[in-house]
Amino acid sequence: MSSKFIIRFDDITPSMAWSKFSAFDDIAKELDIPFLVGVVPHCLDPNLAVEPVRNDFWDVVREWYARGWAIAQHGYTHQYETQNSGIFSIGHQSELAGLSYKQQFSKLEAGKKILVQEGVWQPVFMAPSHSLDEVTLQVLEELEFRYLTDGYGVYPYKMGSLTAVPQLIESPIHFGFGVYTLCFHVNGMSQAQILKGLHFIREHRMQIISFEESNAISCPIPGVASAIRFITSAALPKIRKFHKMS
Ligand SMILES: [Zn+2]
Repeated sequence: MSSKFIIRFDDITPSMAWSKFSAFDDIAKELDIPFLVGVVPHCLDPNLAVEPVRNDFWDVVREWYARGWAIAQHGYTHQYETQNSGIFSIGHQSELAGLSYKQQFSKLEAGKKILVQEGVWQPVFMAPSHSLDEVTLQVLEELEFRYLTDGYGVYPYKMGSLTAVPQLIESPIHFGFGVYTLCFHVNGMSQAQILKGLHFIREHRMQIISFEESNAISCPIPGVASAIRFITSAALPKIRKFHKMS
């Protein structure tokens, strides 16, 4: 039994920091690692436009898909509309949480349609700012999503008909067992952070698994998974706060 890691990249858009991401793409090729990427179907968030638009964006995403990467739908336009932190109480703003079923459905349906048209949709959802509510879960179910890359604890668990694959914190803290999602936002990464991330990936290659593989992982000891989930759900806001300060 040892920790397994999923490598996740948020905020994948046509005008993301490609110059920073390229080193990760290179190492994924070199070591044959399938990443999990959160693609914004129709990005209108000006904060995510940091480098010139890549006109071959969807070709790039299709190439990742063909290489076995997990493509998660990361919201729709990535514009925050509410101050609602949702079920996980992590972010303090949301594209979805707090909105009506009808509003959430029309956004997520429109986003899914784009990904389907581009031939890259998978039943995986990544909520902008980790914020979603009970209504979002109902909408996702209706739109046939099956997995969430968010959640407490260190083992995948069921949230209604969806499977939540935990994502705790951005740094590689782990307990020595379970599944951890390391979350990278390349747009804001410094050169030192990029090198650290690449080093971690190289050092832990044998423990890195695909998002798909993670769904099959369950806790070998009954009761432990839900206990850890409970502990981390209580401690997480504090851990995150501490992490931000440090
Ligand atoms: Zn995001």
